[in-house]
Amino acid sequence: MSTHPSSVLEADHRELVASFETFIRKELVPLAADLPEDADLPPAELRDYVRRRSAALGFYAGDYPEELGGSGMPFTAVVLLHHAAGRSGCPLAPYALAGSDGPSPLLRHGTEEQIERYLKPLVRGEAVRCLALTEPHAGSDAFQLTTTAVRDTATGEWVLKGRKTFVSNADRADFTLVVASAEGEPTAFVVEAGNPGLRIGQRYDGMSGEPLYELLLEDARVPGDAVIGGPDAVGSALGNGMDSLSRGRLVVAAMCDGIAEYALEQGIAYARERRAFGERIGAYQHVQEHLVTSRAEIEAAKLLTLACARLVDGGTEAPENAALAKLTSSETAVRVVDRALQVHGATGWVRGHPLEFLYRYVRSMTIIEGTSEIQKVIVARSMGLG
Ligand SMILES: Cc1cc2nc3c(=O)[nH]c(=O)nc-3n(C[C@H](O)[C@H](O)[C@H](O)COP(=O)(O)OP(=O)(O)OC[C@H]3O[C@@H](n4cnc5c(N)ncnc54)[C@H](O)[C@@H]3O)c2cc1C
Repeated sequence: MSTHPSSVLEADHRELVASFETFIRKELVPLAADLPEDADLPPAELRDYVRRRSAALGFYAGDYPEELGGSGMPFTAVVLLHHAAGRSGCPLAPYALAGSDGPSPLLRHGTEEQIERYLKPLVRGEAVRCLALTEPHAGSDAFQLTTTAVRDTATGEWVLKGRKTFVSNADRADFTLVVASAEGEPTAFVVEAGNPGLRIGQRYDGMSGEPLYELLLEDARVPGDAVIGGPDAVGSALGNGMDSLSRGRLVVAAMCDGIAEYALEQGIAYARERRAFGERIGAYQHVQEHLVTSRAEIEAAKLLTLACARLVDGGTEAPENAALAKLTSSETAVRVVDRALQVHGATGWVRGHPLEFLYRYVRSMTIIEGTSEIQKVIVARSMGLG
């Protein structure tokens, strides 16, 4: 049994995590073995298969209640699954858990019909969505929106006009959650794929292979009830949904903790084997420094993530807690992967080595779900500063 300090907080969900790890080992690792070495992003059909299979086994979107198609797991359990996915080093494992294409907490504030039509298929892993929030001049300052939604009084429809940038999954989403300014309030709309006013513009090829897209709303007409929460919910569903940003940040923190742990294991294994100047490199204190410092940082980050997840299950979703965890874990993962690669020398730098990919993959983690600086802004505010 592990004697890591964090194992104290993992104990309650050990069986669930073990069964998820078995699923990764027995089903996903063999599938991943067939992926071409230089393919950063697994093919869409394979990602779809992994998502559906994981949903059928009850892992995907596990914290959603059973009446919505989930497994009703505590949030801490979901966080541990994300950790396990990261730690597995299996490139397919992250797709077994709900991410930016999965059920959105925003839709929990939807009408009954929206929950039935959009949220439930997402929870079951049958549909994929995307979120169009960021604009050319509204990134961290997300509500400086220039995308507008104007009501057509003759038909009751909304007409959406604007330009969104850096949208994940836009090429394959069944629908898009578009945030636009309606009657001066940031408001979330559902725009289904195939809407003639919704068009993909530029494609941005990110450093780890995941493409992002520009989305153009060219007088896209949507029905009056496309406002999340119903026709009268202008502004309100978005306000409520934003409260749940904390969970998204904790899930990213957990994935980062797992990735860091995997990178550290790679570093340790290599340092035990690789020889230089007649010694195993792990005998040199400069190499130990990389690995021991990483271990200390990971263990601290992991404890923080798990403690924050436990607080969520206890009814406390303080944004500053999630901000602290996301800041700590994402920055830790970037440093740890960098150090593990350094311990590998040129071997880790070569295309196709897992650390070479992770070095590029993990870099987005300090940007997505709010940059590190924005997490610091949140924490500073909670300290009565700024
Ligand atoms: C992999 C990836 C996937 C993404 N997916 C999506 C998606 O699906 N949908 C979507 O809408 N967007 C998506 N984004 C965009 C993402 O949400 C934004 O990149 C993020 O919000 C930061 O905005 P920005 O890039 O415009 O940077 P900016 O907001 O311009 O920030 C630039 C720099 O200034 C700093 N800064 C800004 N304000 C402050 C402040 N008040 N105090 C201190 N520092 C500050 C930032 O921290 C950053 O370092 C994605 C981005 C990436 C990298």
